[in-house]
Amino acid sequence: MAAKLIDGKALAQQVRDRLAIDSASVLAKTGVKPGLATILVGDDPASHVYVKNKQKACELAGIYVDDHKLPASTTQAELLALIEKKNADSKIHGILVQLPLPKQIDSRVVLEAVSPNKDADGFHPYNFGRLVEGHPVFEACTPKGVMKMIESTGVAIEGKRAVVLGRSNIVGKPLALMLLQRNATVTICHSKTKDLPAVCREAELLLVAIGKAKFVTADMVREGAVVIDVGTNKLPDGKLCGDVDFEPVSQKAGWISPVPGGVGPMTIAMLLDNTVESAMRNAGMKRG
Ligand code: NAP
Repeated sequence: MAAKLIDGKALAQQVRDRLAIDSASVLAKTGVKPGLATILVGDDPASHVYVKNKQKACELAGIYVDDHKLPASTTQAELLALIEKKNADSKIHGILVQLPLPKQIDSRVVLEAVSPNKDADGFHPYNFGRLVEGHPVFEACTPKGVMKMIESTGVAIEGKRAVVLGRSNIVGKPLALMLLQRNATVTICHSKTKDLPAVCREAELLLVAIGKAKFVTADMVREGAVVIDVGTNKLPDGKLCGDVDFEPVSQKAGWISPVPGGVGPMTIAMLLDNTVESAMRNAGMKRG
């Protein structure tokens, strides 16, 4: 393998270690730990695993977890009432509503009900708008994690040609805005993009979030590029795999992130980071 590995697991550990120190400072100053409310509706097994992993990571970083598991029959009004309570709870600095929600509940309404000041996932339209303006408050966790992974390589972002594959509201669009904010020249690709391989080959930074196993092949990658793979796909044998054809692409890229062990752990670390940042902001504390 020619490319250097961007180890998301190790980076996430570094983030958690720093957050544990920040959390202890918040506790010392205010008498309360940074607090994250986790709200899970229904019994989707994957969602239960995701929430459990997030809660475990919180505990390692000294964050108080306020766990809410609601039955699949929960009504939208009941969920909104709980969110309202958490919005007003001074021990809570971040609120996570695990998606997807059961079909009787409108996710948009729910995500907009979370106070923009406790929007640890960074999904509220207020926070999205702040990012568009170039004055972000809470940034969406996955793209924020991808930015940290690029930074960890030491490759400068300013002036680089960045290509983002995928334009979802939770990954592709906010990631493109964050890169723009850092003065990259950004192209966003989607399912209607013409001659996608040629566009990808221009990328010095290639960020992939489309949800198609091994879609990006070596002929689509520029020599020496930084390639970050957000995709999480399950193969027929049950193994996880990214959107990038890892082995051949790693012969050509300069840097590459694996799946698993890449963006996934960093997404969780950024949820924690947003929660601690919120608690520090609340306490009038600046990060070191
Ligand atoms: P999404 O909402 O399904 O969006 C997929 C995007 O990819 C769309 O913009 C779509 O284009 C584009 N696309 C699909 N097929 C394409 C093709 N053949 N060529 C070019 N573009 C194509 O997905 P998402 O929520 O952003 O997630 C993307 C992947 O990242 C998934 O595998 C998801 O599981 C993973 N993910 C991982 C994490 C993590 O923490 N590791 C977090 C979030 C997501 P159109 O807009 O034209 O349809």
